[in-house]
Amino acid sequence: MENSGYLRLKWARDHMGVSQKIRERFLKEKPLKGIKIAMALHVEAKTGIFALLLKEGGADVRLASCNPLSSDDSVVESLKNDYNMKVFARKGETEKEYYENIEKTIDEIPDIIIDDGGDLTNLVSSKPEIVKNLMGGNEETTTGVVRLKAMERAGALKFPMFDVNDAQMKHLFDNRYGSGQSALDGFMNATNILIAGKHVIVAGYGWVGKGVAMRLKGMGADVTVTEVDPVKAIEAVMDGFNVDTINHAIRNADIAFTATGMKNVISYDDMLAAKKGIILGNVGHFNNEIAVDDLNRRSLGKTQVRNMVTEYRLENGNTVNVISDGRLLNLASGQGHPVEIMDLSFSLQALTAEYIVKNHEKLQNRVYPVPEEIDRQVAEIELDVLNIKIDRLTDEQLKYMDSYTEGT
Ligand code: NAD
Ligand code: SAH
Repeated sequence: MENSGYLRLKWARDHMGVSQKIRERFLKEKPLKGIKIAMALHVEAKTGIFALLLKEGGADVRLASCNPLSSDDSVVESLKNDYNMKVFARKGETEKEYYENIEKTIDEIPDIIIDDGGDLTNLVSSKPEIVKNLMGGNEETTTGVVRLKAMERAGALKFPMFDVNDAQMKHLFDNRYGSGQSALDGFMNATNILIAGKHVIVAGYGWVGKGVAMRLKGMGADVTVTEVDPVKAIEAVMDGFNVDTINHAIRNADIAFTATGMKNVISYDDMLAAKKGIILGNVGHFNNEIAVDDLNRRSLGKTQVRNMVTEYRLENGNTVNVISDGRLLNLASGQGHPVEIMDLSFSLQALTAEYIVKNHEKLQNRVYPVPEEIDRQVAEIELDVLNIKIDRLTDEQLKYMDSYTEGT
């Protein structure tokens, strides 16, 4: 389709109601006027609308991808040609290109960084001239926040960073319902395999795992959860799932998804034990949740059996199929989270960037939660977009909440 990137961006904008309400204000007030923002996010239509929102708020934005496989080239072209945006991304970047493109976002010394997974943060941390100038930044995802907190503990965090992932309007919807839908989208796109009646493993019962398990169950799969946290394991049991160890469950599984942020969750030994022909996909963080390096090193050979699926032959005669080289299948093989979900995540991002500009002088080199009023504001705007009214506490009820004698 001619200029499909432009139309994809238009479609995304038309379904990002919260961002568009914020945009009306940003266009008038220009709260980000003159602010340079470097971003590493999945460069597709929703991210494009977010980058444009920041630009419309007055910012000078430079955008690269946070994953070598997740860019939408038609959107990249439209952002560059139709909107004059500085974008450095391509689907299928080599490792070298990927890091070079992230470097290009900081050619002009940024005031704010917006990261997804920590690669941009790491880069910036090694550049004293940039650190000196930074007002602060935002991190989008769970694993990025885990790394930030490790940096903070080690005294290695040199600028303030906001943990967008732990805002309620982020993980409750993006990690859970976003991943729940987009993992299945990516899986179906990559494989064209039926889900109903299949034995499926979901490794990890955090926010992402919960969403994926819930949607798989809804489509008729028999779902087994694996966990290392005893409380989450019990939660999975009470939610109606089987719970087992990975090495045992994998013997009978047709499909397995990882959603942990941990490495080697499906190890080479697990693959040797797996049911022949099992399909493996990752919805978590890196391509090390499934031991792809070991597969490449130790397997007897591999065949690209579909666009996004590689079949490996193992020494014991087993075969395993890996989707998108073990990289996030919802983004590498699918379209990423649905548009209304990213609208919420990116609205939090935009308002938090505005907060950094207004408050950076008070901030320390710490990991900060997104202020509660921003979380609430995004929820209120979303209710308005959905045209849903809710009840409000009356003065009498507010008083009741504060009293410890009434009604006892
Ligand atoms: P979370 O912390 O809520 O959940 C992770 C769960 O994995 C925890 O319950 C933990 O106990 C469990 N776990 C850890 N090691 C395990 C192992 N060896 N076996 C089984 N379970 C194990 O995190 P989350 O928000 O669910 O995010 C999970 C990962 O997904 C993170 O890396 C995050 O960055 C990523 N993420 C991806 C997307 C996407 O679009 N694909 C969206 C959001 C988050
Ligand atoms: N750099 C890591 C980051 C993990 S991605 C990697 O690619 O391996 C996980 C994040 O991707 C989630 O927190 C979610 O907010 C974001 N995401 C999911 N779908 C998206 C989409 N369609 N557009 C932009 N970001 C998306």
